[in-house]
Amino acid sequence: MGQATPTERYLERQKFPSPGECIYCGARDVELTNEHIIPFSLGANVEIVDASCKACAAITSEDEKELGRKVLFDYRLHLGIQTRRPKKRPKTLPARVVIGSGPEQTFDLPIADHPYFTAMPIWGLPGLLSGSEPRSTFEQESAHLYYYIPPNIKQTLNLRDGQLAEIKPPDIRIDSHKFARAIAKIAYCQAVAVFGLRGYRRLIMPDLILGRYPFVPYFVGCEMKVPPPPGSAKGVHFVDLRIVTIGRMKLIIGSVRLFAHSGTAEHGMPIYRVVVGAPAGERK
Ligand SMILES: [Zn+2]
Repeated sequence: MGQATPTERYLERQKFPSPGECIYCGARDVELTNEHIIPFSLGANVEIVDASCKACAAITSEDEKELGRKVLFDYRLHLGIQTRRPKKRPKTLPARVVIGSGPEQTFDLPIADHPYFTAMPIWGLPGLLSGSEPRSTFEQESAHLYYYIPPNIKQTLNLRDGQLAEIKPPDIRIDSHKFARAIAKIAYCQAVAVFGLRGYRRLIMPDLILGRYPFVPYFVGCEMKVPPPPGSAKGVHFVDLRIVTIGRMKLIIGSVRLFAHSGTAEHGMPIYRVVVGAPAGERK
């Protein structure tokens, strides 16, 4: 690994200046909106001012729903993460439970008493780093599972002594492409904030994020091995950019770890890797 660039923690409000155009499609003479580097729905408050046109924001917000409203929905409720619609925030969440040899039942439980499961997808390293050919499907699709069973679960479910209950994980199918594009967007926004829109080579990243480039697994991935333990409690989200040399190529690799301070004692959240661009060529 080469030289490191600033690492952000994303909790404090911070604004990067506008690049003067949409960072995805390059539109200039349109209304531009502020772009969160990490989605607001994940508790983050760092923005690039006037950086996305409405048409591109409509596309990228669809992918962000895969992160914030689907995969990490229960997780962020349990962590008490901010929302734009506090009145609509649910006070209870459903849990599917089988008690003894009885039928499956659904209990609506207050957040504090609710057992939860979160599955984070993993797919192996980006093809560009592992040396495999560009392809549009993730060859190894797997997931790391994170769960929490509250200590008072026996009382919550009214279990008698010795009675067993099975708590079923929710049946969530993750759209790996949407999820990976939402991760790529985070690394891309960080690179634009740190290097500037013209300060490095963006490769195909804008097209990939807009869903116009099919070979997503070539640029976005995650080691299959067990992730390291959670980081310090202060660092909620972790994004890091590094310049690495692969053969004769120099690439900028973004590492994205959401809710980096959480997870189980054995393993924290996955660290996603995005080939986010390449350093600008040397000036002659
Ligand atoms: Zn645009």
